[in-house]
Amino acid sequence: MKILAACGNDCSVCPRYTALPYEKTGEELQHTAELWMKIGYRDHVVTNDEIACSGCRPENRCRYRVIKCCAEKGIKTCAACPAYPCETMRECFAVTRSFEPKCREVCSDAEYEILKRAFFEKEQNLLIEQAISYISELFRSNAGGHDTEHTLRVRRNAMMIAETESGCDREITELAALLHDADDHKLFHTENNRNARTFLEGRIDADRIERICACINSVSFSRNRGKIPETLEGKIVQDADRLDAMGAVGIARTFAYGGEHGRPLRESVQHFHDKLLLLKDEMNTETAKQLAAKRHAFLEAFLSELDEEMIDL
Ligand SMILES: [Zn+2]
Repeated sequence: MKILAACGNDCSVCPRYTALPYEKTGEELQHTAELWMKIGYRDHVVTNDEIACSGCRPENRCRYRVIKCCAEKGIKTCAACPAYPCETMRECFAVTRSFEPKCREVCSDAEYEILKRAFFEKEQNLLIEQAISYISELFRSNAGGHDTEHTLRVRRNAMMIAETESGCDREITELAALLHDADDHKLFHTENNRNARTFLEGRIDADRIERICACINSVSFSRNRGKIPETLEGKIVQDADRLDAMGAVGIARTFAYGGEHGRPLRESVQHFHDKLLLLKDEMNTETAKQLAAKRHAFLEAFLSELDEEMIDL
């Protein structure tokens, strides 16, 4: 999982980050210090002590004073700031971007990929933070709060699958995963993805908004029986959502939903046969197929145990 710095950098992949359990060897830190000079982040090779970073602590140097600013406002990252993106952050993003060509030039592909994820995606990371706050608020005021966790699990599943699918647009995938139930007809009476669009408009390009909405619309199980999403991102998010209806969490959700709607136990069990047991064969991606096989086996084991314990009335 990502560990966001106040400015949106992802510390979990940063070659400077040394907080537990992300310790680096002296050799690794020295390599980073040399890389920093090669890129132009420093004008000489600094010491390992100077290159090592333990995260956003007040005593750590922060060129844009972002750590202090967030601490003063009592927020974790700039994503929660009403003034976002302020002048300082616009400058911070611009300076970060200005180093990208040099990184492409002097870094190996692997080094570049690490720096891209650690630093060049800070705006996307902050956007994702804002999306999480948005859906948390949306579900809190509309659905008793319980769907935020489902959404976050779907996002986790989707990003896990995305890692193994080359050519996937991770930002589209992540936003579609986070917003996939924002206009769920069981919870909201919106048309044309209104809730999702309300968040996205003004934050990303119009054509990417359409791609995200198309992705969201291809996810629903009941509305898309037998239909395979056209895009890779749609396939991933659909798999991610369906995985969350399987395994232990699928069982827990089924009975929680049944209880909430006053359904007897047997009626909830029928849902396994009508939907959950069919999902294994409806996965689109290889990773999801593997994850689904394990979760399906758990569903079957649970049902056979339940069958033994239940009595015929
Ligand atoms: Zn869902």
